[in-house]
Amino acid sequence: MSHKGYYREFGGAFIPEVLFSTIEELADAFQHTKEDPGFRREYEEILSTYSCRPTSLTFAENLTRTFGNARVYIKREDLNHTGAHKLNNVMGQGLLAKRMGKSRVIAETGAGQHGVATATMAARFGLQCTIYMGEMDVQRQRPNVFWMEQLGTEVIPVRDGTRILKDAINQALRDWITNIDSTHYVLGTACGPHPFPEMVTYFQSIIGREAREQIMEREGRLPTRVYACVGGGSNALGIFNAFLDDPVELVGVEAGGRGLDSGKHAARLASTDGSIGVAHGYKTYFLQDRDGQMKETHSVAAGLDYVGVSPVLSAMRDKRRIRFEAATDEEVLKAFSLVVRKEGLVPALESAHAFAQAFKELPDLSEDDIILINQSGRGDKDIFTIADALHDPGWEAFIKGKAEEYGA
Ligand SMILES: *Cc1c(COP(=O)(O)O)cnc(C)c1O
Repeated sequence: MSHKGYYREFGGAFIPEVLFSTIEELADAFQHTKEDPGFRREYEEILSTYSCRPTSLTFAENLTRTFGNARVYIKREDLNHTGAHKLNNVMGQGLLAKRMGKSRVIAETGAGQHGVATATMAARFGLQCTIYMGEMDVQRQRPNVFWMEQLGTEVIPVRDGTRILKDAINQALRDWITNIDSTHYVLGTACGPHPFPEMVTYFQSIIGREAREQIMEREGRLPTRVYACVGGGSNALGIFNAFLDDPVELVGVEAGGRGLDSGKHAARLASTDGSIGVAHGYKTYFLQDRDGQMKETHSVAAGLDYVGVSPVLSAMRDKRRIRFEAATDEEVLKAFSLVVRKEGLVPALESAHAFAQAFKELPDLSEDDIILINQSGRGDKDIFTIADALHDPGWEAFIKGKAEEYGA
């Protein structure tokens, strides 16, 4: 491998030797296609005719009035087909796979959202598709499994290990090694071996490019701060990328779970619990014990519940270009309710992390400030999680009290 694919000390490609040539072929194909204006046109065309791009920029008039200072804007990635930013990435990788002459795609999925997006892309592009999913997740995410199967995808429940996402990743890698010639591995976020972090960031950067243009058109100036939630880091990098060279504060929000002191969270960068290590093909901050065993993570939002994080983000944290914070499950549910009641928008619980952090900081901003929040997806999928939380008898009173506190 070349020295490319490093961000400071993070990233790289720590892969079995049998995958060297495949990964190199992929990196080359990506570099080539990226420079081909025809490819870029095809990519933008499919996203605009198939997935609602450009997505809207919504001025959150009621939230702005509620907090009474900064103007609040929301980038609406929830409007994408299949309900989140994930389609930006899978359509790009699908086009690339076709150009490389691949007839089959595989992917791993945890909560099932990336699986559904990949299965959708495969149906549209006429590619064979196999999705690996931990058996535990298959049981927890029945609706997503149902839709993947309807889309013509084979869903393979993984019975190894703890039967969750990390076990599915290992199985998918084994499949890739066996079927290198026919198969492209569609990685779901800006993690994994080079060139995936760069490639996924490239495809997701369409979010920030649009948002920057839209806010300039609306306000004639850039936002003060941009907020995005951070699972693997793809929606955050997607929106942040357009503002890296500007005097704009970038805030990545991780899953604080039950609180940073509880040990039950997924804050790899915002807490002091993360340490540098190598796993899943790349080097980054992981939540691991002293022997390098991965810890169990927790979040109310399945999409943020992962032990690693994009090497690009690890580098930007150490460079202090992006500030990382964490929002707890409770803060997130509270923020979710406020957004629904005030704006009639239904953010995914992942996206509600970005809102929660913004709400904590809004009181410190002024009327001259503008903030931009990335609503990475819609919350329909979270119906049972939210309903369970609402069952708590204290909840309704709590929400009511909070809404009043915010001037509802
Ligand atoms: C998958 C998902 C995420 C987390 O992934 P990133 O790569 O960190 O963006 C965030 N929000 C939604 C709605 C998701 O579906």
